Formats: sequence, structure tokens, C-alpha cells
Amino acid sequence: MKTSFLWDERCFWHGGGDFAFTLPLGGLVQPMTSGGLPENPETKRRLKNLLDVTGLLSELDSKSSAQVSYEDLLRVHPKTLLDNFKALSDADGGQIGLNIPFTKGGFEMAALSAGLAKEAIFSVLKNKNTNAYALSRPPGHHCLPDLPNGFCLLSNIGIAVEAAIAEKLTDRVAIIDWDVHHGNGTEAVFYNRADVLTISIHQERCYPIDSGDIRDIGVDDGEGYNMNIPLPPGGGHKLYLEVMERLVLPRLRKFKPDMIVIACGFDASAIDPLARMLATSDTFGELTRFAMLAAQELCNDRLALVHEGGYSEVYVPFCGHRVIAELSGSSIIAADPYKKIFDARQPNEQLDKFYSGLIKEFHDFLL
Ligand code: ZN
Repeated sequence: MKTSFLWDERCFWHGGGDFAFTLPLGGLVQPMTSGGLPENPETKRRLKNLLDVTGLLSELDSKSSAQVSYEDLLRVHPKTLLDNFKALSDADGGQIGLNIPFTKGGFEMAALSAGLAKEAIFSVLKNKNTNAYALSRPPGHHCLPDLPNGFCLLSNIGIAVEAAIAEKLTDRVAIIDWDVHHGNGTEAVFYNRADVLTISIHQERCYPIDSGDIRDIGVDDGEGYNMNIPLPPGGGHKLYLEVMERLVLPRLRKFKPDMIVIACGFDASAIDPLARMLATSDTFGELTRFAMLAAQELCNDRLALVHEGGYSEVYVPFCGHRVIAELSGSSIIAADPYKKIFDARQPNEQLDKFYSGLIKEFHDFLL
């Protein structure tokens, strides 16, 4: 069995609030790379291109999927929101939620993005693939059930996990979000639930500025099943590994998931324009190895990653390639040309001590 790699060119054509030269986007008019929102197709397309150029893509089970159904969507999002989104999308596009723009056909692109996440999770749960990576776009982890925000139009992982639970493929899922921003949407979908553990590792008060507090641990049946790990800016490789080892892994062992899903953002990287952390391609590779070892120990290797943020066109491809090489056990390496520079920028010993102290405080509070 191979690693499944889900992608679709149509997801790269999602765009909003912009024009291609003088024409509004939509139909056969593609978004341009030079304008529009920081969430643009280039980071994702260049990741897929790098996989192609190194030959790693040919080792993967590379495919697309169907869109999620209206029934799938309704498990997470209210009908009024979906109907409004669909009507605007069928016309000339528009905006929903906190000013999240989309073009004509944006509804179908978002439903396809969620479909890639669903197929990633289903292909693993149905033993069709060893593990899976969904190159979903638009991203999903900020989208609340009734409020799209932060470039996210639908809750990709929320919809996919709910579909898997509804079809009785699983009844106990752990979601680990290592995108640098708080996974507020995924948290909201499962906040009162004990069957889905949500963990978010993020730069504190980066986005949204008023969520992601360590004291937000879930409510009702879900109390203790939401874990926020807000990190001060400037943390790098060591900090991320320490977080996994000392906070995430012990919580996973206690929860005993049936499957692990990762909200995989690359915006904690040392060069990302939207955050201030210092992770490298090695960091993402090691995080993936941690997740694979946890999945091996706890849930028969069942692991799926779903793409979220990451806004450096030059660096996301190397981080993503490293993750997918790790996932698939490939020997094909895309040597990271930025490694020397970003390794040199890591926190010094004094800061490392500070971060270790912080992790101890977090540990005492959370575990
Ligand atoms: Zn992000």
C-alpha cells in the first residue's frame, strides 16, 4: 500500500477579491500569482510541482476525489449559510462570513477541498492506503460552523471526520493542528465532544487574536478534550519537538485514538510572512515522524494530513516535500537550500531554557 496524495488543479483555481488583469476571476479566467490575498495557489501548486520534479509524486497514490455531499456539509454547517454560499457562487461569487471572498463556482471548489480531506481520511480508514496527504485548498481549520473566516470557507477536517463517524468507520479521532494559527474552527466543531480530541499548537494571539487560550479545554462532555498550546513568537525546532514529546504524545496516549488527523500548516516556518516562528523543513519532518510513531503505537498507523496554511512560496514546497517523503518512507530527498540559514537563526541556549520552563508550566496545567 502506498501513501495517498490527494490534489486537484481546480482547488488551485479558487480565488477571490481580485482580477486577472481586467477580468473578474471565474470560469476559465485563472487567478494571477502577483495579486490578491496571501492565501494564493502558488504555495500549493509549487509543492505539487516539486514532488513532480524530484520524482516523489510517482511513488505516491496520486489522485483527486469527489466533492463532499450536501448531507456531509449539513453535519457541520447550518443550511442558511450553505444556501447563501451556493447562491452567491452560482451567480458571480461574493463574500461570506468575515469577508471571505470567492469567485463564481467557489462553492464547488470549497466542497472539493473538503472532499480531498474526506477521501484522505476514508482511504486510510478503509485500508486502501498506508497513510494520506490531502493538498486541500481553500483551507478549513478557521471556519466555524456558522462563520467562515481566516481564508477558510468550510471546515474541511470537521466535515471529513463527521462523515467518517456517521459512516461508522471510526468513533475516536485525535486532531492535531500544527498550523501556526489557532485551529478555532475545528475546536468549535468538536468543543463539547469527548469522541474527538482537538489539539492546537499555535503562536499565541496571532490569529484569531482572541482565541486559543490554554484555559479553553472544552465544555460539557468535551471538557478536557480540547487542548490549546499557545507559544510565544520566536520558538523554533527544539520547541516544537518538545511540545510534541512532552504535551501532545502523553495526551494522545491517554486518549487512545482510533485515528490521528493532522491539520498541517507550514506557516510556523522561519520565513512565513504571516507569523513569527522559526520552524524548518527538518521540524516538519520530525513532527511527521512523531505523528507516525504515535499512530503506529496507538492506532494501527492510521494517519492522515490535511493541508492548511503556509504562505512562503519559496519554502512551503521544501517543508511539504519533507513531510510527504517521511510519510511515504521514500528515499527521495529535496535538499533544503535554506537549511543553513534557518538553523543558524534558532533560539539560543537562554531562550531554550525559557521555552523548556514554559512547557513545564503547560504540562502541569494540561496533563
Ligand atoms: Zn495558518
